[in-house]
Amino acid sequence: MTTPAISVQNVSKRYGETLVLRDINLEIPRGEVTCLIGPSGSGKSTLLRCMAFLEETTSGSILIEGEPLGFIEKDGKRRAQSPSELRATRSKVGMVFQQFNLWPHMTALGNVSAALRRVRKMPRKEAEERAMAQLTKVGLEDRAGHYPSQLSGGQQQRVAIARALALDPTIMLFDEPTSALDPELTGEVLNVMRALADEGMTMVAVTHEIGFAASVGNTVCFLDQGKLLFHDTPEKVFAAPRHPRLEQFLDTYL
Ligand code: ADP
Ligand code: MG
Repeated sequence: MTTPAISVQNVSKRYGETLVLRDINLEIPRGEVTCLIGPSGSGKSTLLRCMAFLEETTSGSILIEGEPLGFIEKDGKRRAQSPSELRATRSKVGMVFQQFNLWPHMTALGNVSAALRRVRKMPRKEAEERAMAQLTKVGLEDRAGHYPSQLSGGQQQRVAIARALALDPTIMLFDEPTSALDPELTGEVLNVMRALADEGMTMVAVTHEIGFAASVGNTVCFLDQGKLLFHDTPEKVFAAPRHPRLEQFLDTYL
């Protein structure tokens, strides 16, 4: 059996008194698209943020391609990874947020190349060439010199995707990438994601786009009150008769 891209093992997460993730076990297979759906507040963002080590788990562990993320267990003891170990594991994971989080004072090209120059210490020319290649990939080669304020929301999100891809991750996480967009702009972002999926990128996407989950997702996971209630192929998850909590979710959110 090949090692999963991400392995979530008995993960719980607590904020103070509130248990927001309850003993999650999930394997994200390589080269597949896993969609996370569930009501607001069910823990979708928290789970995704734990996979990117933007949050620490309270208990349990997360492995990225078989490598522990954040902590190393040895001889029954848990120690924090060194910064360089953590960097190496984390660099496999790219993340795209609902709010695109672009630097307003930098052009599209600047936004994509900045991380390469700062994180990867790449010389400017090389970083810009690579950034340009990524902008081309998301269909924005003619917008490289534009500032975020001169771009539509869909274009800004595509810049954010290019920025994450430039760092050459093997896994891409998306947290409601189209939720901040006007409906007519979601298609261009979903198309970029679909193309990435077709190339075989391993992806985990939190999304309310049920059409996308059904047509592009290999697996759909349903999170409810911090619990992974079930995960299966979209055909099985969406087929009637549906789980009552899923039925309620679909009624409320769609
Ligand atoms: P979702 O993405 O499914 O809407 P979240 O993962 O954002 O859900 O949140 C799950 C629960 O955790 C919610 O009850 C939320 O209020 C709580 N929560 C999220 N982030 C924090 C935080 N930094 N501090 C305290 N509570 C938080
Ligand atoms: Mg969320």
